[in-house]
Formats: sequence, structure tokens, C-alpha cells
Amino acid sequence: MISFCGPKIAEYTLKQDIGKRMRSSNRFKQEKKELKQRKQKCEYCSENNASQVDHMESVSDFSDSVLEGNLTVNEAEELTNNSANFADSCGGSTGSCNQQKDKKSASEFGGDNSSDRIKRRKRNYL
Ligand SMILES: [Zn+2]
Repeated sequence: MISFCGPKIAEYTLKQDIGKRMRSSNRFKQEKKELKQRKQKCEYCSENNASQVDHMESVSDFSDSVLEGNLTVNEAEELTNNSANFADSCGGSTGSCNQQKDKKSASEFGGDNSSDRIKRRKRNYL
């Protein structure tokens, strides 16, 4: 039992650590500060005011790529925390876009009301 669970738990903990590191990056913190000054609408629903910075390709996906050996932690951090991967999103409540999107990518979650940037991703993905 222990030999079966051990590596899984270690992998899970490692993924949490990588995710934590990506979410605590200065670049991400800076973007969150700038979002408050921009006062934008949510890029997913174009209706509510944006209150959170979303990672279009999720931190979870990038963490998986690190665990699979396809990216180093530094490479993943560079890709996840840059303006091309940030979207202004409504968040906080259960029905909000950031909560509903969760670990999906922007191309999986974006809809008809999404910004052109997100629709473009969706088209490229399909
Ligand atoms: Zn929204």
C-alpha cells in the first residue's frame, strides 16, 4: 500500500509546490495590481467587472508539463506568468468565470461573449 501511494503523494505535493511558486511570482503580483487600475470588463463574459487575473493556460497544466519532464520549472514560470497568458476575469463568487473555468484552458472555456483575444485562441485550438 505504501509503495503504491508513496510516489502519487510525492507527485501531488510536488505539483502543489510548483503551483504555489507560479502563483507567488512577482510578475503575477504586479499584474494583479495593474488589473485594479485598468478597471476592465471580464474577458470571458464581457459583462462583469474583472476582479481577478486568470492564467489562460492554467497553472495546473503547466505544472503537469513540468512533472512530465516537458518543461523546466523556470520555463513553465516564464510561459505561465506573462501578458500573453493573462486574462482579466470576473471572480470571487461561485458563478464567476474564473471559478467556472477552474483548470480548463481559455480555448476550452471561452464562449461567444468572450473577447477577441480569447476567441482567437479558441479558433486556433479547434
Ligand atoms: Zn466573467
